[in-house]
Amino acid sequence: MLRKLLFQQTPKAYRFLSTQSTLPLLNKCSAFSYCSSSQPEIPPSNSVEQLQDQPKNTISIDRSGLYNPPEHSHEPSSDSELVKHLKDIIKFRGGPISVAEYMEEVLTNPKAGFYINRDVFGAEGDFITSPEVSQMFGEMVGVWAMCLWEQMGQPKRVNLVELGPGRGTLMADLLHGASKFKNFTESLHIHMVECSPALQKLQHQRLKCMDEDSTAEGVDKRFRSTLAETPVTWHATLDQVPTGLPTIIIAHEFYDALPVHQFQRGSRGWCEKMIDVTEDSLFRFVLSPQPTPATLYLMKRCKWAVPEEVEKLNQIEVCPKAMDLTYTLAKRIGVDGGGALIIDYGLNGVVSDSLQAIQKHKFVNILDNPGSADLSAYVDFASIKHSAEEASDDVSVHGPITQSQFLGSLGINFRVEALLQNCTDEQAESLRTGYWRLVGDGEAPFWDGPAEQAPIGMGTRYMAMSIVNKKQGIPIPFQ
Ligand code: SAH
Repeated sequence: MLRKLLFQQTPKAYRFLSTQSTLPLLNKCSAFSYCSSSQPEIPPSNSVEQLQDQPKNTISIDRSGLYNPPEHSHEPSSDSELVKHLKDIIKFRGGPISVAEYMEEVLTNPKAGFYINRDVFGAEGDFITSPEVSQMFGEMVGVWAMCLWEQMGQPKRVNLVELGPGRGTLMADLLHGASKFKNFTESLHIHMVECSPALQKLQHQRLKCMDEDSTAEGVDKRFRSTLAETPVTWHATLDQVPTGLPTIIIAHEFYDALPVHQFQRGSRGWCEKMIDVTEDSLFRFVLSPQPTPATLYLMKRCKWAVPEEVEKLNQIEVCPKAMDLTYTLAKRIGVDGGGALIIDYGLNGVVSDSLQAIQKHKFVNILDNPGSADLSAYVDFASIKHSAEEASDDVSVHGPITQSQFLGSLGINFRVEALLQNCTDEQAESLRTGYWRLVGDGEAPFWDGPAEQAPIGMGTRYMAMSIVNKKQGIPIPFQ
């Protein structure tokens, strides 16, 4: 089953088909503890506890059906620029780096990060996302944004922000779908938050942007999307998006790319999993002998959990960047008004061990060829909810609900019916399979083509959550 899924042009989520429900039973420990500061000083990196000795039952993903790369096949022969850079960081710091730092460098290093220099999406790329599966995805997100704008009292000027827009397909479909609703589109200033120059370029093309005269110094260059005659500006971070206007924020498969810290329960309590280089120049996992700065986030996350949730786990992932981003985003919505929509795969609770590497639609080893494979982790929706509530009393958090519920309530069924009225047989097949992939669960029952190409529904694997200013009431369709 898994093998079949991976050899299709599978959506990104399929890498997680064996979710935590397939975890082998993990050892129970009674109390939450972390490596105490009474531990000895951090020894040189080569004496840090190696993870190869850890019991096998801490690995949570069933990879039995997957293509199996040889363990540690990363020969040092011709190190890439990124590998050299990672090894230099470890060498000059005199010790291992966290999994989060590794993940951040691998994905977004300004010279050689996975996302930085190329288009990684689609059949020819490494994975496929929902906006690339069907235009209906972006259109439905557009319906959500318009409904929220109505609830906001149809403000004359609104910032519409997309975090991590990939190829720009979601925003293009949103604008296409909304272009008849002039009051809405005329109110918009679009802000694309994207760290990759290559993807910024693709987004610019996808939105059919023209230059707009803006010569003022210190002001970001503005473009105009001819899809709905809306101004568009690009930024590397959310902080660069101007405040002071009501704001609608969309984050689809953005949170899963934020770097996670991994902790493992051992005889000394919770220790952070780090990445080091062996004497023969290979990357390896080690355990930090002392509490690390990220331990504060672990403690914070565990305080939000019920004790039983933590007791059953031997590994925990925390994502400080997700917590901090949500805090910033919720503060902004609390002050400026508006709301955010977060769609991703994940859990509504503590995440154990979900970090995965995918290259050309196949699982690969996390430590192999860094920069050539996507790294991503389950999103902890409960942590997002707590971070937002901590940031502002003026926001409310709704969901998560499944993507299937979200798109269904927004009317995707009517949309697919309408599109099917006026299309070729080939388009009809593509619409039906796209629809199933977005809202279905498991293999499509109507499929009569080759079994290994059957469309797989991901409607229950993805979840949607919304954070809104309380003034607007409950957002559609979370009532
Ligand atoms: N939302 C798109 C793409 C998801 S992939 C879709 O669903 O198709 C993640 C996207 O986030 C990519 O565009 C990537 O370049 C961007 N990204 C990842 N980390 C980022 C960061 N720290 N800052 C800004 N953009 C980031």
